[in-house]
Amino acid sequence: MTQNQIQTKYHRRDSLALIEALSKLICPQSQLHHQIPMANRTTLRVGGPADCLFIPSQDEDLANVVRHCSRHQVPWMVVGKGSNLLVRDGGIAGVVIQLNHAHFHRIEFHPEKSLICGAGSRLKAVANAARDAALTGMEFLEGIPGSVGGALRMNAGAMGGEIFDLLDSVRFMDSFGEVHDLQTIPSDSWIRLGRCMICKNTSCNIITDPVLHTLRISR
Ligand SMILES: Cc1cc2nc3c(=O)[nH]c(=O)nc-3n(C[C@H](O)[C@H](O)[C@H](O)COP(=O)(O)OP(=O)(O)OC[C@H]3O[C@@H](n4cnc5c(N)ncnc54)[C@H](O)[C@@H]3O)c2cc1C
Repeated sequence: MTQNQIQTKYHRRDSLALIEALSKLICPQSQLHHQIPMANRTTLRVGGPADCLFIPSQDEDLANVVRHCSRHQVPWMVVGKGSNLLVRDGGIAGVVIQLNHAHFHRIEFHPEKSLICGAGSRLKAVANAARDAALTGMEFLEGIPGSVGGALRMNAGAMGGEIFDLLDSVRFMDSFGEVHDLQTIPSDSWIRLGRCMICKNTSCNIITDPVLHTLRISR
């Protein structure tokens, strides 16, 4: 079942009550906004209001909100930077989640030449951070607008490279707030099955922390 297919008892006129209920489940650093125009959050600058825009500052708040939505049959969806989204004038019913807090923008390097990034990180920031650390393999991300989470959902690519080829593992949260790690060890079966698994697992879940691999270049 995808986010858009859930059976819902939610009525858009209940959106203020929804915000009130959600505000009790999150810390003060996380943000909830009522009736935010999606036109301000998409590259095409079109789209009516989201009933509730949620910007979590920690994983726990994200889990609490999606769990509440699942229990009360409130529709939700996650958006990245909105560079591949067309939103209708009627807007979006329920909760729109955007990983726009610094917690989901972190980029960390690990000695075994991998890079853990928050799913909200901009692709350009990831490519630039890899360059600054003398790591190669991510140059093609530089010119693609959008976030790492959105890119993984779409398998974004350019100049012969695609982001699935960089992926070592992906951490995602399901609609019950449970966190899962999906290893994507390259192999013949990965070529066939791994991509299907990523597509299947990201279509109805929230990517939070992918691990991408790089190569070190000598200077
Ligand atoms: C001028 C321009 C140039 C572009 N050039 C390229 C290009 O060269 N190559 C290319 O591949 N694409 C390109 N694109 C398309 C777009 O930039 C990419 O698809 C990008 O990866 C989308 O990322 P986003 O963060 O904007 O996602 P959004 O548009 O916000 O969302 C796209 C999808 O991803 C899902 N999503 C977002 N974040 C998450 C998450 N954390 N977990 C689960 N699902 C999530 C959303 O629900 C939605 O279904 C271009 C777009 C524009 C406007």
